[in-house]
Amino acid sequence: MVLIIPYIFPSTFNALAVWPFIILREPALRSDYVLIHHERIHLRQQLELLWVFFFIIYLTEFLAKIIIYRQPKLAYRNISFEREAYENEYDLDYARNKPLWSFVGYIFKRPLKY
Ligand SMILES: [Zn+2]
Repeated sequence: MVLIIPYIFPSTFNALAVWPFIILREPALRSDYVLIHHERIHLRQQLELLWVFFFIIYLTEFLAKIIIYRQPKLAYRNISFEREAYENEYDLDYARNKPLWSFVGYIFKRPLKY
């Protein structure tokens, strides 16, 4: 279910997934299939972790990686949920077919440097 709410986003973000919603900054983004699929991967991750555990792990990992990388953008890109979503967002069947808790495989992957 897609909602359009322009004013909740910091300038660098266009979309947000909070099960069962995908929230977009603007209506035109509905046609960005890769962005929508990225957010659908997050919806699956949230379901697999009974919603609340997704956000607990996401926030914990983000705070840990802020300490490690000292750059919010780099910390965000190295969150396991984001790595899984970014690395598979072009495979448009991935959200439907992904293995259970596959984000775990991304936790200790070699960190991105950009
Ligand atoms: Zn994401």
